[in-house]
Amino acid sequence: MARTERPAERPARAAAGPAVPTVELHRHFEAGLTPETVARLAARHGLVQVRTRSGQLVPGVDPQDPASVRRYYDGVSRGLAGPGGFDRFVEAFGLPLSVLRSIEDLEEAVFDELVACAAAGSLHTELRGSPFSYQEQIRAPVEDIAAALVQGVDRAWTERGASGAFILAFSRHKGLGHPAEPPARRQADAVARLAAGLHRADRPVGLDMAGYPEDAFPPRAFERALRPAREAGVPLTIHAGEQGVPPGFESAPPAFVVDAVERLGARRIGHGTSLCASAAARALVRERGVGVECCPVSNDRLGFMPLDRHPLPRFLEEGLLASISTDDPLLFGPFSVADTFAAVSGPLRLDREAELRLARNAIATAFVTEDRRAQLAARFDAAVGASSGAKR
Ligand SMILES: [Zn+2]
Repeated sequence: MARTERPAERPARAAAGPAVPTVELHRHFEAGLTPETVARLAARHGLVQVRTRSGQLVPGVDPQDPASVRRYYDGVSRGLAGPGGFDRFVEAFGLPLSVLRSIEDLEEAVFDELVACAAAGSLHTELRGSPFSYQEQIRAPVEDIAAALVQGVDRAWTERGASGAFILAFSRHKGLGHPAEPPARRQADAVARLAAGLHRADRPVGLDMAGYPEDAFPPRAFERALRPAREAGVPLTIHAGEQGVPPGFESAPPAFVVDAVERLGARRIGHGTSLCASAAARALVRERGVGVECCPVSNDRLGFMPLDRHPLPRFLEEGLLASISTDDPLLFGPFSVADTFAAVSGPLRLDREAELRLARNAIATAFVTEDRRAQLAARFDAAVGASSGAKR
C-alpha cells in the first residue's frame, strides 16, 4: 500500500459551520515545541550543533534557524517507517531536549506551548514528558523539574486562561530496574511517587507510560510500581496497543490495552490502535468509559498503521471515547489538532459530526476537575452553537 504524503502545514479547512474548537490530550511536550521556540532557546544557550539523543552529531543543521530545524524534521519524518524506525524516532528527540537547559526554560516552554495551542484553537491541552529526560540536561532534582512543568500549566491558566494539564511520563524500558540502581533506571516507581506528590484533587497531575518496545515491557509488569499513583487518585494514561502492525498486532496486542485498563486502572489509552483486532477489548473500553487518544499521523509516520486504514472511524461508530492528537508535532508535521483533523479527515472520511464528537470525547476524558470539565463543555457549546454538553 502506498504511503500517504506528509500533510501540508496548514491545509485548507473544508468543514461547514463555525470553526470547531479542539481539545488535545496526547502531546509530548518537548516534541511539541515549534521550530521557532527551539531556535530561540538554542540562541539563548549559544547552541550551534544538533546532536541525536545518543550524542551523534547531525551535520548541516543550524539549531538557531527555524527553517533549518524544520527541514531536519521533514527529513526525519520521511525515514521513520521501516526497520529501526522507532530508534531513529527516539534519536530525533536530541534537539528539543538539548535546548531545555534550566528549570526556567521548562516552565516558560510549557507556558508558551499551552498558550500557542490555545491560540491555534485548543480549548484544553495536555502535555506529557519524563522528568528524567529533562534531567539529562538540567542539574536539578526531578521533584523540582516536575514542579516547574506543573507551574507552567498553572501560569498558563491563571495568566492567559489557557487550560492545560501536565502528565508526568516515564519510559517503560527504563521503568523497572533493581532497587540498587539509580532512580533514572527504575523510573516507574519514581514517577509514580512524583505524580502522587504533585497531584491534587483541585489540580490533577497525570501519569503516563511511554517507551519501546511494548511487548518486552507489558502493562501488567508495572502493576505494583504504579500503585502509589493509583492510590493517590492520579489519573493514568498508558501507551498501549500502538507498536504492532495489522493484521495480527503481535508486538502490541489488544490484550495490552485490556491489561492497562484492568490491572493499572488506566482512564485513557495512548493510541490503542490494535483495539481494531478485538471486539471484546473495544467493548471493555467502551463500557468503562476509557478514553482512546488516537494519533493517526504518528501511527502512519512510524509505519504502524497506514493513515487510510486507521480504526478511528470505527471507534467513533461504536461509541468509544476516541479523541485526536498530534503526539509529536515537531517530528510529524501538523502542529495543532485542527491541522491534524484537516490532514486526516479526507483519508478517514470524517465529517463535521465526527469533528464535534472527537472534541466532546476529549472533554469527557480530560484529566481535569469536574468544574473545569463543565467550563470546557460550556466554552465548546458556545463556540459551535450547540446545546448538548460533553457526555461523560
Ligand atoms: Zn505518545
